[in-house]
Amino acid sequence: MHPELEAHLLHCRNLPSPPAVALRIIELAQDPMADLNATARVIGTDPALSARMLRVANSPLYAGRRRVDNLAQALTLLGLNATLSLALGFSLAQGLRGVPGTATEQERIWRRSVLAALATRLLGGYARLQRLEDLMLAGLLQDIGALALLQTMPEEYAVVRAAATSDADLIERERAAFGADHAAVGAWLARHWQLPAYLADAIGASGTDQAGDAFQACVVASGAIADLWLDGGEDASRRELASSRVQACVADGTTLDDLLVQLAAALPEISAMFEVQIARPGHLDSIVDHARELLILRNLREIQDASRARTEAQASEDKVRRLTEQSRRDPLTGVYNRLQMEEVLEREFATAAALQQPLSIAFIDLDDFKHINDRYGHLVGDRVLYQFAQNLQRMLRSTDLVARYGGEEFLVVLSHSNEASAARVLRRILEETARVPMAEVDGKPLHVTFSAGLATHGTNRQFADARSLLQAADDALYGAKREGRNRVSQHGQ
Ligand code: GH3
Ligand code: MG
Ligand code: MG
Repeated sequence: MHPELEAHLLHCRNLPSPPAVALRIIELAQDPMADLNATARVIGTDPALSARMLRVANSPLYAGRRRVDNLAQALTLLGLNATLSLALGFSLAQGLRGVPGTATEQERIWRRSVLAALATRLLGGYARLQRLEDLMLAGLLQDIGALALLQTMPEEYAVVRAAATSDADLIERERAAFGADHAAVGAWLARHWQLPAYLADAIGASGTDQAGDAFQACVVASGAIADLWLDGGEDASRRELASSRVQACVADGTTLDDLLVQLAAALPEISAMFEVQIARPGHLDSIVDHARELLILRNLREIQDASRARTEAQASEDKVRRLTEQSRRDPLTGVYNRLQMEEVLEREFATAAALQQPLSIAFIDLDDFKHINDRYGHLVGDRVLYQFAQNLQRMLRSTDLVARYGGEEFLVVLSHSNEASAARVLRRILEETARVPMAEVDGKPLHVTFSAGLATHGTNRQFADARSLLQAADDALYGAKREGRNRVSQHGQ
């Protein structure tokens, strides 16, 4: 910085100085041995500061955590680093506001600082930076140079500020008038007060559009956002500047309008903490309202997309289920097909064997079916097959299984059925089949009979596997055919 200005500032009685508590916090921040207890002792000496720390710990910035009601809890919740940054911010804000001078202009600088502090913190969140409290502090202190200029040369500086049309213009004018802008003065002051180097560097960067890193980029952008908030949106270039600076530090597609909505939401709490009045300017109403609508619309759209995706997933799941089920069924009769039956039979056999429960199966073959086809035609034959399958299913328990094994042959699986009960079931079906016509041809009922071969895996006879059980039922069926058809024959009897 210009040596003359430096000398002037150093020798000026009005140069703002940090309050005692802030100085002790600065010391703590530089002490690697400092802990939360030592910090709590320092903060505890200042009731107003303690109350602010408690308030910030319960504010929406830390929303979702439990309510805290004493300083120790508040500081534990915030952690050492955040505590130091926040406490420094509060104590400096409080101490530097007390200096007498041009109150209106001072108030205006603080409004910009508090807005910038909040904007920096929000930007840091969007940019996925850590150290949000450090960011907030850097945002808050970026204009301490302006306060210093205002205190040390109130008249000259008031003239410069009054003539400035924008922050960039103010910086130009400050350089011309004093040989340094308020950002450079602020950086110098921060070093003079022995604030951490990252703060001095970020304050210095706030007067340029060249940020050294992501942290500084947030601070640089925050000033432009605060200016937009305070100085009106009629000037399109002010909006563009704020927007491009937001884009320079966030990578997730967050827009200036998104940020303004968040800012509007958090501002009442923050301005109360720093005791400044910051109204929402009318020119931002429409932006904030519009952005909020967009946000609601975006959420709605996301909900709709999610529910559409769910419906589509459900439909394709249903389709897969339908196709799977179809692939298990015989197309003519609707009962299970042979492939499915073999799979089920393997499973049923394994279960029955493991649990030592009986399992019966029956091969059913329609008698002289060739004759029916020959006499009435294949279509009638098909109808008979369909009707017979339906009747079979109706006459069995829901836990029993019917499959078309091939041609006019069906297989029935009767789980938990021993020889006697399986034979009873089959005989009942045989009687019912003889009684109920399967079709009507030329007004005359068409009756069929069948032969069945039964085999049971149970106490009398154990089979090695499902295949042997099938073979036994097939043997029994041929026995029934041999004995004259229209009967149930039991394997082994
Ligand atoms: P048996 O009493 O010895 O069983 O005599 P059958 O005539 O029933 O036995 P065979 O095995 O000689 O004939 C079975 C007949 O079943 C021959 C075949 O055309 C008929 N068939 C097989 N599948 C179908 C089908 O899907 N539809 C129709 N209509 N007929 C079928
Ligand atoms: Mg046959
Ligand atoms: Mg037959």
